[in-house]
Amino acid sequence: MRPSIYIELSSGKNILIDTSTDLRQQALRFKLKSVDAVFYTHSHADHIMGLDELRRFNVLKGGPITCYADARTWEGLRKTFFYIFENRSQQGGGIPKLEVEEITGPFLVGDTAVVPIPLLHGATPILGFRIGSFAYLTDCSKIPESSWVLLKGLDTLILDALRHRPHSTHFSVSEALDVVTRLKPNRTYLTHICHELPHSETTASLPAGVGLAYDGLSFSFDMDTD
Ligand SMILES: [Zn+2]
Ligand SMILES: [Zn+2]
Repeated sequence: MRPSIYIELSSGKNILIDTSTDLRQQALRFKLKSVDAVFYTHSHADHIMGLDELRRFNVLKGGPITCYADARTWEGLRKTFFYIFENRSQQGGGIPKLEVEEITGPFLVGDTAVVPIPLLHGATPILGFRIGSFAYLTDCSKIPESSWVLLKGLDTLILDALRHRPHSTHFSVSEALDVVTRLKPNRTYLTHICHELPHSETTASLPAGVGLAYDGLSFSFDMDTD
């Protein structure tokens, strides 16, 4: 399925990163019970087209869901989902109820600190996110020099690695492994992988502590950073 993750915070708040095209299937398959907030990495179709499915989570929550995105991503979301954000002519059901928060720097969800990580996806600036000892960096081909300091002391990293061949907007496997060598997280899962990476064969070729992500991958992480 398409890249997206679901984070259950110890505070009880549950966060989605991106609303992928597959959100409905993912939510049913993995029995997502509630969504309190959504963080958007960028507004490419594979990361946003499930946004309308948030309606069901409005019902389960009994209120609006807070969506966090930077100004560029909000511009894309507003254009794509004009019926939600512009001239809300339709009244009543049928439109997700969303609270808009523009990301301009680190922010809090309840008492949990979230650090947006500026990344480059080709020439496009997008965001990764860090919470405690965990960082999620999908859809990137370069980590700007000023972002490396935000990624020190990671326990777990999820990192883009599309395929072995170079790509203009995604890390290749070897480029991703260069990032792992520099950041030295305890464990790394490569995501946004394409059909050119056979799962077991690729996993066997990766260094210790690095594996391919997969649908349904689940793990815990610590809020403390060393
Ligand atoms: Zn993208
Ligand atoms: Zn993508």
